[in-house]
Amino acid sequence: MQHEYQLFINGQWQPPAEGRYFDCVSPYDGAIWARCPQAGPGQVDSAVDAARAAFENSEWAGYLPARRAELLRNLARLIEENVDELAKVQVQENGKLIREIRGQTLGLSRYCNYYAGLAEALGGETIPLSVPNMLNYTVREPVGVVAAITPWNSPLSLLMWKMGPALATGNTLVVKPSEVTPISTLLLARLVAEAGFPAGVFNVVTGFGDVGAQLVDHPGVDKIAFTGSTDVGRSIAAKAGSRLIKTTLELGGKSANIVFADSDIDEAVNGILAGIFAATGQTCLAGSRALIHSSIYDQLVERLVERAEKIAVGNPQDMATEMGTVACRKQFDKVMSYIEIAKEEGAKLLTGGKKPDFAGPDALFIEPTIFGDVHNDMRIAQEEVFGPVLCLLRFDTDEEAVRIANDTRFGLAAGIWTKDIKRAHAVAAKLRSGTVWINTYRRTNYASPFGGYKDSGLGRENGMEAMKEYTEVKSVWVNYGAPIKDPFDPRA
Ligand code: NAD
Repeated sequence: MQHEYQLFINGQWQPPAEGRYFDCVSPYDGAIWARCPQAGPGQVDSAVDAARAAFENSEWAGYLPARRAELLRNLARLIEENVDELAKVQVQENGKLIREIRGQTLGLSRYCNYYAGLAEALGGETIPLSVPNMLNYTVREPVGVVAAITPWNSPLSLLMWKMGPALATGNTLVVKPSEVTPISTLLLARLVAEAGFPAGVFNVVTGFGDVGAQLVDHPGVDKIAFTGSTDVGRSIAAKAGSRLIKTTLELGGKSANIVFADSDIDEAVNGILAGIFAATGQTCLAGSRALIHSSIYDQLVERLVERAEKIAVGNPQDMATEMGTVACRKQFDKVMSYIEIAKEEGAKLLTGGKKPDFAGPDALFIEPTIFGDVHNDMRIAQEEVFGPVLCLLRFDTDEEAVRIANDTRFGLAAGIWTKDIKRAHAVAAKLRSGTVWINTYRRTNYASPFGGYKDSGLGRENGMEAMKEYTEVKSVWVNYGAPIKDPFDPRA
């Protein structure tokens, strides 16, 4: 019998109230390797109540920034000590590469240390008022109870992008991980408790979308931090809007990697391939559209196809593997259906497009797939596939490249490959996306703000911007000499 995990509410491990569990299925071989508790409605209430009580009444509410920083540093150390287990479980959950996830997970300790530093650095301002004898200053206060709802592609990183700034600024959290990747978050909860965070500060309720929806509707929640699909994000924004609570939404993308004729071709090829295939295409910032100058199109096609066909697809737990599986059956079916749509639309299949011959029925592999002769109005160029499918498009002028790159409802990221510094900055200025990379791709860092324009989201994660997203600003007025006159005295 597989190990049955428990919910983490108010510092206690709890079985699901109604005794319901769901299976965690490996995308590599279809094995059921764990059973995850499904939180009942009463348990979601308990988690929010615990977070509320911890925010208002517990010792946490009185902790100085230095103490919150100390706890984050404890967590950083524990993540380092447990990196192998945390990485291995994430690979088991979603089939992403151990060689990528291990480094990414180790990097979470740097996030904790960074936010520990910011806990003592974020302050208010003294406002230069043109009013005599009056001091005005601002303080930043935590928002309250944060519901953090996360997807399956990088479960712990995308959680850390939320919990790092939320905890540094004194909020409390109820986390709802994806039903595809819940166990890694439960393992992290164990470390959060061990780090010394008081009961109720960090709670985890696992389950499906209905658990997330209950949190979104819960009157005890003050802010929703969501990463996931644009459709769900839009519904969350509508509900949050009607309740007038804060949200940060990190949603989908259809990012363009623009390769100019004067680029370093070797680097551009590496950047394009890493941008789409390194995580089996399952990143919001995947460079799923490569826009290539017509004069180098044929040369680049040849190089991309040749290298894509050599990508070592296999067991994601093996350090030699270069591309793993997609995360779940639903996603596998979605990606395969987009491959059929692209063919029907007239895109030219250059390589891939099917399950590799070695893969058994339960192994969710898809070959690195490249479509040429794609037009930007095709669905394959407009809709997020979230899989190892690259579209190649041509352009002739810089203006045309910018127009095609921006001709999407998304605005998450874009890459520019050129040796011409003027062109690089001029194009970067015209791109409507939250991140622009010049001669690199798919880089993120705890210090650099990340988020989307248009349908790619609201607000920013990472860096000082994220700290601000988890605080309210209070403006305090102090009279140190202005006379307070009788308001009803006609002579005043
Ligand atoms: P999803 O929207 O289906 O689910 C995300 C989370 O929301 C899950 O925990 C899910 O259970 C929960 N959920 C589902 N319905 C809900 C509802 N009605 N109310 C509240 N919560 C609900 O997304 P997914 O399939 O897990 O992830 C893939 C998507 O995430 C892609 O579209 C991808 O682009 C996006 N993504 C964005 C970023 C970013 O930073 N912009 C990063 C990673 C993934």
